Amino acid sequence: MLGLMQEWPLLCHKLIDNAERQHGGREIVSRSIEGPIVRTTYADIHRRARQVAQRLEQDGFGLGDRIATLAWNTARHIEAWYGIMGIGAIYHTLNPRLFPEQIAWIMSNAGDKGIFVDLTFVPLLEKIAGSVPSLRKVIVLTDQAHMPRTTLPGAVAYEEWLAEADGAFAWRTFDENTAAGMCYTSGTTGDPKGVLYSHRSNVLHAMIAAMPDAMGISARDVVLPVVPMFHANAWGLAQSTPMVGAKLVMPGCKMDGASIYELLDSEKVTFSAAVPTVWMMLLQYLEETGNMLPNLRKVVIGGAACPRAVISKYQDKYGVEVVHAWGMTEMSPLGTLCTMKPQYETLEGEARLDAQCKQGYAPFGVEMKVTDDDDKALPWDGHTFGRLKVRGPAVARAYYGGAGAEQFDAEGWFDTGDVAHIDAGGYMQITDRAKDVIKSGGEWISTIDLENLAVGHPDVAEAAAIGVQHSKWGERPLLVVVRKPGKEPSRDEILDFMRGKVAKWWMPDDVAFVAEIPHTATGKIQKTTLRQQFRDYRLPTD
Ligand code: AMP
Repeated sequence: MLGLMQEWPLLCHKLIDNAERQHGGREIVSRSIEGPIVRTTYADIHRRARQVAQRLEQDGFGLGDRIATLAWNTARHIEAWYGIMGIGAIYHTLNPRLFPEQIAWIMSNAGDKGIFVDLTFVPLLEKIAGSVPSLRKVIVLTDQAHMPRTTLPGAVAYEEWLAEADGAFAWRTFDENTAAGMCYTSGTTGDPKGVLYSHRSNVLHAMIAAMPDAMGISARDVVLPVVPMFHANAWGLAQSTPMVGAKLVMPGCKMDGASIYELLDSEKVTFSAAVPTVWMMLLQYLEETGNMLPNLRKVVIGGAACPRAVISKYQDKYGVEVVHAWGMTEMSPLGTLCTMKPQYETLEGEARLDAQCKQGYAPFGVEMKVTDDDDKALPWDGHTFGRLKVRGPAVARAYYGGAGAEQFDAEGWFDTGDVAHIDAGGYMQITDRAKDVIKSGGEWISTIDLENLAVGHPDVAEAAAIGVQHSKWGERPLLVVVRKPGKEPSRDEILDFMRGKVAKWWMPDDVAFVAEIPHTATGKIQKTTLRQQFRDYRLPTD
């Protein structure tokens, strides 16, 4: 027997409809690419998104068309997303930090027909547009007065293009499983792979993200997503913030400490989310200026392991609660968040920090397990580590075009490629990427643990641990270190600092100092490049 409840497909435009009806006057504040701070409201966004939808249909776009965005976090970018989704087309976020050839490859692979592009990226698009055969429409996110001279054929200024639609438009309806958005994984090895979100997965993910023990945002919050919309959907904030009706503050292209601080302060931001490097940059700014963060209540830090020292500084000195989180593009992206269950809530000091260094537990909507190489589930004991696998309504079940099929099994589990352990309380801790883990004498050494420990040294700016060939052990750890400006810690000082804090056989065999550690387009340490760089390194122990 079927239930007798209404069919109410989970479509993304319902989020913005609700924001307009319930929170229409709530502000969206953007640092525009042209420079000034621009203020709009959910009512404005709702109206303009329908204009985008109507105008796209006038240009012949429709159901299933991929329309790219190459843009920073601004209100215009949000309008473009909702307008695209509202006709059943698919927003496809492009990461501008990738190499131009990679972006062209991704656009061609996706078959992008149109693109919304920020002023900043017009020169980049000029370089690659000719190699994307499917591309037939370029909309520059600005007005005629700021429109640059461009070689892009038929490029139009967004505001004038938009003004040609009156907004008398009803969202198209379709099945909730229709594709809504697309994002390619950063692809540190092999070609990038396309993840295709659906309306249903985006709406469910927005609900999962907003829950009190996940990000925990409400109508009373002022949310600043520093994490870009092109990095895994701004971690769902472009959907969960309108869903709850929080005020939204968009940083545009200025992500340095001073610019972020200015917005945090002037807009009284209560909640923010970004990768660790952003929070480290802001810390440096705060320390230099002596500024404090009286309004900021909570920050979510993820995308890479958050150093313990960063968590404790924000909490102890600035009174900001830190929620460490883990996720991936394939998971929309939230996987786990380190909020406190009752048994952890009473922890204090170092014990609390120990718990917070874990990536946390999975909210309802994410199932996880760790397995050995034979796919046998491993115990949740807080130390046995293995491959982390996940499933849920906002987790990919395949990549676009069938790439990477080996990562999905018949029971619906997705192999994340991360190595982790889970404790009896359900808290997961990432110990490595499967391809980065150091295999010494058949046993695994966690590079993330070594790195976190090393950056706790006051004179170390950044550290990366990699496996280097060793005739007896197969591989042994080498610690690659960037020193803080003006500091000269020696190899032995760093090793002495680490000694006793990890198992003896995990200790790096050597330390190499470099001026810079290479990063991927999403801010992760590029281990493949580092391993290449130190391919012929001879360890003193060998
Ligand atoms: P992306 O799809 O670019 O967001 O990358 C996802 C990957 O980033 C994950 O599979 C992890 O390897 C890594 N990652 C994300 N969050 C964390 C975290 N809190 N700690 C350690 N690694 C993380």
